[in-house]
Amino acid sequence: MAKTKRGKGLWNVPSKGRGTCPICLSTRIKLLYTVTNSEGKQVTVCKKCSSVEAKVADKAVNTVNLAFRGKHRRVLNQQKQTV
Ligand SMILES: [Zn+2]
Repeated sequence: MAKTKRGKGLWNVPSKGRGTCPICLSTRIKLLYTVTNSEGKQVTVCKKCSSVEAKVADKAVNTVNLAFRGKHRRVLNQQKQTV
């Protein structure tokens, strides 16, 4: 089986498979796992969050406008929720 979550294969994935996890809000983490929320919508999350329940996935925030910089870390922490 090919390794789809590590190595060169990731380089072709947008932003090399990394981003901000919508659930734990970890930045620059690999987002290669999907969870389904209660509406049946797929959310791309990090490995830590790959096993969350649909209820938790419902609370996923939109990370498109979230910045990666450390100075925004406080804002991220405010939105953060315990998983
Ligand atoms: Zn996560």
